[in-house]
Amino acid sequence: MAEGSARLLAAAFRALGIDADVTPPSDARTLELGSRHTGGDECFPAKVTVGDFMKVLEQRGADASRTVFFMPSADGPCRFGQYATYMRRVLDTNGYRDVKILSPTCGDGYVGLNELARPFLRTAWRAAVAGDILYKLLLMVRPYEVVAGSTDRVYAECVALLCGTIERAPIEAGAQWRTLSKSLVACRDTFRSVEIRRDSGRPLVGIVGEIFCRLNAFSNNDLVRRLEEYGAEAWISDFSEWIWYSNSEETRMLKLRKQRLSAQTVSAWLRNRIQRRDEERLLALFREDFAGREEPHVEEVLEAARPYLPAEGAIGEMVLNVGKAVCFARRGADGIIDISPFTCMNGVVSEAIYPRVSADLGGIPIRSLYFDGTQTDLELDLGIFVEMARGRRLKRRLAAAM
Ligand code: SF4
Repeated sequence: MAEGSARLLAAAFRALGIDADVTPPSDARTLELGSRHTGGDECFPAKVTVGDFMKVLEQRGADASRTVFFMPSADGPCRFGQYATYMRRVLDTNGYRDVKILSPTCGDGYVGLNELARPFLRTAWRAAVAGDILYKLLLMVRPYEVVAGSTDRVYAECVALLCGTIERAPIEAGAQWRTLSKSLVACRDTFRSVEIRRDSGRPLVGIVGEIFCRLNAFSNNDLVRRLEEYGAEAWISDFSEWIWYSNSEETRMLKLRKQRLSAQTVSAWLRNRIQRRDEERLLALFREDFAGREEPHVEEVLEAARPYLPAEGAIGEMVLNVGKAVCFARRGADGIIDISPFTCMNGVVSEAIYPRVSADLGGIPIRSLYFDGTQTDLELDLGIFVEMARGRRLKRRLAAAM
C-alpha cells in the first residue's frame, strides 16, 4: 500500500479497538536487518518486510506477547504465499515465539480474520478505497502544482483527517458512511484549492507491477516522484485492484468446484456487491475530478489480458499487469512502466509478453524496471523512457489535429 493508505488501514484496526500502527518508514536499517534475517534467495519485498518487522521489535524493546504483525497471504504461482510462514520461522529462530502473525488469505476473500472479519472488512475496504482516492488525487495534482510541496502537504493533511474520521466514526455502516463521506468531500475541496498550471504536453505514464514494490516508495526508489521530475504524470494501478482480483478468483474457483449454491458462494456474492456499492458511492463524490481517468473494473482488465494471459490459465499479478497495461494504453497513457522486484516471477513473465502488447498497441513504450535496493542506473532509464513517451504523445496530438 501507499504510505497514506497503510495509515488508513491501521486506523480501521483502531476503529475496532485494536492498537494498530504502520511500521516506521523503511530505511538503511530495514535493509540491514532484512539481509541479516533472509538467505538472499527471497524476493525483495520479503527482505523489506522482514527488515521492517525486526526493526519494530528492536526499536520498541518489544513486548513480544502484545505484538501481532499483519501479513496477508495469497494463493498463486509466486512466493508471496510463503511470506507469513517464512516470517514465523525468522521470529522463532530469533527468540520471538510470543510474537504472533495475523495472516488472512486471498483464497477465501480474506474472511479468515474470524470474528473481526465482518466489521473489519467493511471498514478496511472503505479505508482502502479512500486511500486509493487520495493517492490518485495526489498523482493527478502534484505534477501541475505552482507552489512546490503544496500537494504533498494537502495529501498529508487529508490522510491525517481521514485517519481520525475512520478511527472515531461509528462502526455501524450507515453512520460510518455519513461521517466518512463528509471528510472525503472536505479532502476533495482541499485538493481542488491547490493552485495548478496544466500542461497538456506532459506525457501520462501508466504504472503496473508487483503490488508491494509498485506502491512502496522506498522499494522503488520513489519512482513516481522521479518520473514527475522528468516531466511526466503517473497513473498507477491502485491497491483495490488486488482485492477485486481476489474476489473474482474466489468466485471462479467456487464455480470450478461446482459450489454455485453453497453458503460460501452466497457470502462471496454478497461481499462483492457490498464492496462494489461502497466503492461506487465513494467514487461518485469525485466524478468530476476523475472524469476520463476512471479505473477499469477487474473484468475489463482480465478481458484485456486474455489474448496474452487468459485468467483461467495464468494467475496472479502477471495477468493484472498485462491487462492493466492494455487498459492504460486504451485510456490515453503514452507509456507503461512495470515495477517489479528483482527476480519477481510475475515481472519476468510480464516482461516477456510486453513486446507483443506494445506492437499490438501501436508501439507504445513499455519498460520493465526491477528493484533490489541497489538500483544505480535509474536516471538514464527514466530520462530516455520519458522522452519516448513524450514523443508518442506529440505524435498522437499531431495525428488528432490533422
Ligand atoms: S509477486 Fe514477485 S516479488 Fe512478490 S512474492 Fe511473488 S515472485 Fe516475489
